[in-house]
Amino acid sequence: MSFKSFGLNLLFPIHCLGCQQEGIWLCSVCFQKLKFNNQQYQQLNTPHLTQIFIAGDYRDPLLAKLIKKFKYNFIQSLGPLLAQFLIIFWRDLNFNFSANFRHPDQQTDSSTVENILPCLVPIPLSKKRERWRGFNQSVILAQGLAKTFQYPLQQELIRKKQGKTQVSLNKQERLQNIRDAFVWTGDSLLGKTILLIDDLTTTGATLNEAARVLKIAGANKVYGLVLAKG
Ligand SMILES: [Zn+2]
Repeated sequence: MSFKSFGLNLLFPIHCLGCQQEGIWLCSVCFQKLKFNNQQYQQLNTPHLTQIFIAGDYRDPLLAKLIKKFKYNFIQSLGPLLAQFLIIFWRDLNFNFSANFRHPDQQTDSSTVENILPCLVPIPLSKKRERWRGFNQSVILAQGLAKTFQYPLQQELIRKKQGKTQVSLNKQERLQNIRDAFVWTGDSLLGKTILLIDDLTTTGATLNEAARVLKIAGANKVYGLVLAKG
């Protein structure tokens, strides 16, 4: 433990968010109790996405608490733990991209096969918001997945404007607020399968807008993977 974190622990002692055990944000016993979402294929109004996978159940108070601490209390060290939750969900889901893969028009040669495995694209924050928070929660989640599943991680999706926080907005306002928020600055995504990563989704508006931009950049299919539906 570094001197700094030792000092912080004295000021703000860490307790398991499940059982209050000292010195840890979540003990292994409580981790086992986190609820996975049993309804895996939820349909939101997101025409630019093929599917959104939702790992956890936000009605699980422990999971909700973890996500809030991670996101709003800037507890970066919860990132790997939540990434682990996402990894277990994704591993057990064992989703078969090739069964869902359709070759883009005119391209039927075998070179497109390499495009079946997804590229991970985390939903970006604006520079300003990321500086303020100190990290991007979606990047931490995506890094965990990339390492475990050997999917390439691409961070060339940029957020031009953060807009207001979506929480207080209704569905129509969310769509307006997020419109043209993203730009793809990487190479062409022609024929590629993309797995967008975010911590939470509510209406799917953010994921859908990001997917729209990635499709314009050439993406064949865009999926979303999130911790929970808020
Ligand atoms: Zn515990």
